[in-house]
Amino acid sequence: MSYPKVDIKYKQIFNHLPGKYLILDTDLHIVAASDSYLSATFTKRSEILNQYIFDVFPDNPAAPEARATEKLYESLKTVLTTRKAHDMDIQHYDIPKRVGDSSSFETRYWCPSNTPVLDEAGNVEYIIHSVDDVTEEVLTRKEIVRKDDHITVITQKQTEASEALGAMDKRLRLITDIIPALVAYIDKDHRYRFVNESYSRNFKISQEEILGKKVEDFLKPYLTQDISKNIEAVLKGQIQSFEIKIKLHKSTEQHLEVIYLPDISDEGKVIGFVSMIMDVTDKVKYYDELTKLTQEKEQLILQKDEFIEMASHELKTPLTTIKAYVELMLLDIEELDRNTLQNYLGKTNSYINQLHRLITGLFDVSTANTGRLPYNFSYFNLADAIETCCSNAMNISKKHKIDCQYTLKDKMYGDKERLEQVIESLLNNAIKYSPDRNDILLKAEEINDEVLITVKDRGIGIPDEELENIFKRFSRAHALSYHNSGLGLGLYLSREIVHRHRGKIWAESEIGKGSTFFVKLPAKPAVR
Ligand code: ADP
Repeated sequence: MSYPKVDIKYKQIFNHLPGKYLILDTDLHIVAASDSYLSATFTKRSEILNQYIFDVFPDNPAAPEARATEKLYESLKTVLTTRKAHDMDIQHYDIPKRVGDSSSFETRYWCPSNTPVLDEAGNVEYIIHSVDDVTEEVLTRKEIVRKDDHITVITQKQTEASEALGAMDKRLRLITDIIPALVAYIDKDHRYRFVNESYSRNFKISQEEILGKKVEDFLKPYLTQDISKNIEAVLKGQIQSFEIKIKLHKSTEQHLEVIYLPDISDEGKVIGFVSMIMDVTDKVKYYDELTKLTQEKEQLILQKDEFIEMASHELKTPLTTIKAYVELMLLDIEELDRNTLQNYLGKTNSYINQLHRLITGLFDVSTANTGRLPYNFSYFNLADAIETCCSNAMNISKKHKIDCQYTLKDKMYGDKERLEQVIESLLNNAIKYSPDRNDILLKAEEINDEVLITVKDRGIGIPDEELENIFKRFSRAHALSYHNSGLGLGLYLSREIVHRHRGKIWAESEIGKGSTFFVKLPAKPAVR
């Protein structure tokens, strides 16, 4: 079968090809261009035909780095010399817009290839220059790269920010570590998120161990009170300030001042709280001691006032009596018989002795206070001293019966007069504070190398809580109005003297049944 001969219009077909083609002669003049090429390059066939390709498509002066014309020239040269097709890399070649402002270019990326058309002798007759417009793909890829770069920048910024935060965190830790408080951050689920050095040191727990633990669970073994209400309140946004006591690791109790500060987010929600704990144990102890001292001082002032009142009374009584006797004697000096005079003078003398004892006592107290009470140590017979004291005591009260029992072999070493002063004080008190009973027992015995002296009465007794106090200065266990004179100095001085002899003095007593005073002395005490 034969086909009718058709006159094919190659030129027209070429012009309508969908691809973008130029046909160049070997001088690189444009001899044909497809419609698609023309529209992609904003050119008209009439303008470019027979033109030198590089006159028509110059480089974009705004993108000289592209070197597109140079590369195309090289490729075309390669084709001419090798007579083989040459594919070029993607080229950035901007197209002159050629409308209005001729200096403006439109960005374009091309994938060109140059294919030789050879004559029968194998020489290059034409070059088909074809291009694929890959602008969109390149720009998309560029955009992706740009976004990638942007992401890289953001990531870098984030890294820098987190490094800065890390540094800040470090600084904050440093600050919280040096402040003398236990600092912790607790989240809204009551779990530790941060504790400073002092916190972990105080509770003897490492940071790793405590983080994530619930605050109530962790503190429970140490606390003596419930803090859950405070935690709930701070998580509602209320600042909490309270005191707690804790017992750590069997050590003594710690007194803590606690402040909870809510951490409120930008949205106004409480997301956790800061706990600041200050150990105020020493402060509390100091204040307790201060209060005690103040109370003691007030007590002393009170005792001093009472003392002045009593001292005036004590001094005035014998003085008034002395004055009365002296006046009496002056009045009747001519009439008085010898016996009466002797009686008056005897009475006056005994009151003068009483005054003397009182004044000496006062003097002793003031010197004892400064540790300058004079002593005169020597070997002496304690039995003799006891005898003297008993007979003196019996002179004071005819009504009382003093049973003196002693079994003492050796002489003892000490200040005889001072020890007599002690025994006399105890006997005088036994008499003074036994108004309704008359039997008093004084016992002295040697036990090993010690001498134990006991003075027992069956008098009014001393309240338990006063047993220690009665040995303090100006201390009187019974109300002023009760009865009996006294300055509250006898037992204070006695304790001073006994201590100086390296001995001990104490009392046992039962209200309404009587008291027993004990003095234990080394038989041969070393002088202090
Ligand atoms: P005072 O001069 O007041 O007797 P003291 O120092 O000798 O001073 O005694 C202190 C206080 O101890 C007395 O005021 C009294 O309250 C109490 N006291 C001392 N001895 C006795 C005792 N034998 N029986 C009861 N109370 C006593």
